[in-house]
Formats: sequence, C-alpha cells, structure tokens
Amino acid sequence: MEKTLVILKPSAIQRALVGEVIKRFEQKGLQLLGIKMIQLNDKILDEHYAHLADRPFFTRIKDSMMITPVIVTCWKGKDAVQVVRNMTGATNSRVAVPGTIRGDFSMSMQENIVHTSDSIENAKVELTRFFQDDEIFDFADAKKQFLYSNDEI
Ligand code: ADP
Repeated sequence: MEKTLVILKPSAIQRALVGEVIKRFEQKGLQLLGIKMIQLNDKILDEHYAHLADRPFFTRIKDSMMITPVIVTCWKGKDAVQVVRNMTGATNSRVAVPGTIRGDFSMSMQENIVHTSDSIENAKVELTRFFQDDEIFDFADAKKQFLYSNDEI
C-alpha cells in the first residue's frame, strides 16, 4: 500500500472547503493516517517548490502558501499516489475536469485548493518533509475487506 501527501492550501482553508476535500478522500476509500495544521515558512517552501525556483511566479506561490496556516494530511491506499492525483485534477483549475477537486472548486492556476504528491518517490520525500515519524499512524483499516479483493492487497 502506498502513502501520499495532500496539503489543503490557504485557498481551501479560506473558502471553507476543508471538510469537503477530506470527505472526498475518505469516501473514495483512502485511509487517513496523519493530519495537522501548520504554518509554512520560506525555508520549507524553498524545498517544497525547488522545481519551480526559476519560474517568475516562484515568490508569489510561496507567499500564497504562507498567507494562512495549511492542513497537511497523509493518506494510504493501493496506488494511493495516482488515485489522489486523479482526484486532484490539472494544475490549471480552469481546465481541470469536472469531478476533480480543482475542476469542481477552483478557477485558478495558483489558488488551486490542494497540493498532492505527483510520484511515489516524491510522496516519500514530501511526507518526511512535513511529518515527524510519530505523527503518521499506521493502524489496521477496519473496512479493508470491503474496499479490496484478496488479490489486490
Ligand atoms: P501541481 O500542484 O499540479 O503538482 P506544480 O508542481 O507544477 O503543479 O506547481 C506547484 C504549484 O505552483 C501549483 O499547484 C500552483 O499553485 C502553482 N503554479 C504552477 N504553475 C503556475 C503558474 N504558471 N502560475 C501561477 N502558479 C502556478
């Protein structure tokens, strides 16, 4: 089973979409293993958005991620990274497919509600970046036999 990171961005917090976004992942069948509200800072965002450091909007997206606290969450499931990415939708919310989080709740490229890890490797790095080991709780999922067949788990 994979684990992946979802950050509910300031746009989710200010638009009161926290419950709605979390509900979607719960209803899909992903297991919530960790959740906390934190204030991001320039240092952690320099790391997190290092792949965008040479883009003109780099400072702007970092500022937008610090404007309120965010909620960081860890979700577990089979193929969780891809499942969560599919539910997220395209970076530009205006072209994100309806039914996705960005497609349903956002009009923006920047203010696009969630960050979600884009690969298994990045999920591992990002979970370590935002969570201490003892903040992720790996407990038995009581609904597992109704979510997966035996050969899937
Ligand atoms: P994603 O979040 O879909 O994985 P990226 O990693 O490419 O996308 O970008 C990280 C974040 O930076 C995006 O979610 C978005 O908030 C912001 N961003 C990306 N491209 C742009 C852009 N051209 N203009 C403004 N903000 C952008």
